[in-house]
Amino acid sequence: MPNSAAHPTASEMTLAYELHGNCYLNITWHCTLRCAFCPKFNGTWEVQGYDLLITREPSVEALLTAIGDPTPYKEIVFCGLGEPTLRLDTLLTVAQAMRAAGKRVRVNTDGLANLVHGRDVTPELAAVVDSLSISLNAQDEATYVRHTRPKREGAFAAVQAFAVRAREAGMEVTLTAIDGLEGVDIAACEAIAGQLGVKFRRRVLDRVG
Ligand code: SF4
Repeated sequence: MPNSAAHPTASEMTLAYELHGNCYLNITWHCTLRCAFCPKFNGTWEVQGYDLLITREPSVEALLTAIGDPTPYKEIVFCGLGEPTLRLDTLLTVAQAMRAAGKRVRVNTDGLANLVHGRDVTPELAAVVDSLSISLNAQDEATYVRHTRPKREGAFAAVQAFAVRAREAGMEVTLTAIDGLEGVDIAACEAIAGQLGVKFRRRVLDRVG
């Protein structure tokens, strides 16, 4: 964690950032995982040239102001150095506004929302979200736990159950894993996605999107 003297003020925080023609939203810095490969645990909050350190949780109004006119963007993507479903109400409200503006909405997530919230939130998400990109991260629990250091028991199974519920709720679901992480078998991860009836995408370390 950078020292407090380097913390951005509210007006300096990067709440919305443009990548690949999409608008990415950075709505929290909190996570259920503590991934060993995460930039924020490796001395920087910078991703693709954007400093994603935020020091307080932005309001719906602040996020809508940061987006501005969504017309130019192909997609609105909830994805920062934090888990967006931890702020479910804010996510749902902003997503609803973007859907009303005719935008596609994607959430990049750890897939632990049902575990954390203690109920199935996929119907609420499906009402305003088109697609989910869910970090499977590994082909087995031991490898998953080693790389992601979850704060809760049962996370690896919970991710897979969430993916199935999300598909059944009507969202387009893609599981992802990072190629090149020690012990991660990309082909085996892809096979799990196939068994769960969802898509798979191989990711490259430190590349957001
Ligand atoms: S879930 Fe994402 S933001 Fe959170 S610790 Fe892991 S890599 Fe970092």
